[in-house]
Amino acid sequence: MRLAVLGSGSGGNSLIIESAGKRLLLDVGFSCRQIEQRLAGLGVDLEQVDALLLTHEHQDHCRGADVMLRRYGLPTYATQGTLDGAGLSAEAVGEVRAIRSGKPFEVSEAPGFWVEAFGIPHDAREPVGFVIEDAEGCRIGLAADLGSRSQLAWGRLQDLDCLVIETNHDLQMLRTGPYPWHLKQRVAGRHGHLSNREAADGVAELLSDRLSSVVLYHLSETNNLPALAAEAVGDRLDRDGSAARVVVTRQHEPTPWIEIQRGAHSLASGAWRQGTLF
Ligand SMILES: [Zn+2]
Ligand SMILES: [Zn+2]
Repeated sequence: MRLAVLGSGSGGNSLIIESAGKRLLLDVGFSCRQIEQRLAGLGVDLEQVDALLLTHEHQDHCRGADVMLRRYGLPTYATQGTLDGAGLSAEAVGEVRAIRSGKPFEVSEAPGFWVEAFGIPHDAREPVGFVIEDAEGCRIGLAADLGSRSQLAWGRLQDLDCLVIETNHDLQMLRTGPYPWHLKQRVAGRHGHLSNREAADGVAELLSDRLSSVVLYHLSETNNLPALAAEAVGDRLDRDGSAARVVVTRQHEPTPWIEIQRGAHSLASGAWRQGTLF
């Protein structure tokens, strides 16, 4: 399995997962044209994507959905709350499928891919995170746009090979930064976004002998710096003896493909962290 983040931050989020010639897009927070261009840079045509999964209806996750669905007829999976919030209905755009949190399903357009959605604390109608497993049993978890770590979410994000987690802000930068007070309250609140520190604590709780990659996602360009996010999570991994590599994502450029192998590393192997990739 491999994944690439097309871009991430408050201006737009999207990532692609590929396994055995099948491809899933997770969120499309850029215009359809932007998605096409960023995919082309990774050697993928949007026609080659088999299905779209949406986490929630905020524009930075759904911006391109309407046009993309009309133009490409891409089968789309999301909770009913997200479909309603994003104005995506079968009559309007075609193949949309309502999913329920806690009910794993196999993506029929991409057999071998199993998906489990789980509810997360965020100020949207019915937001979810995902665990996605391929036919080899390789597992990726996505936890973004959540104001706090919930037992439910952390219970689902177990035994992962790759964790994609939000490191939205550095609390000090948020406090002293330019956002108006009410927005600072929203971002830092229980239904807002995870700080670097909260994400680092959250990662520490999910370490296992198979977690080989931690992808830092949804960094604020105003209230965070890539180096701060990488340091917060990297220090925590070092302290806990994890060999997992850290990949920091950016708003305006895609990551390269990130190869994920099942159980590629183990805590017992004594290997150290491969380093941080910006
Ligand atoms: Zn967002
Ligand atoms: Zn959001």
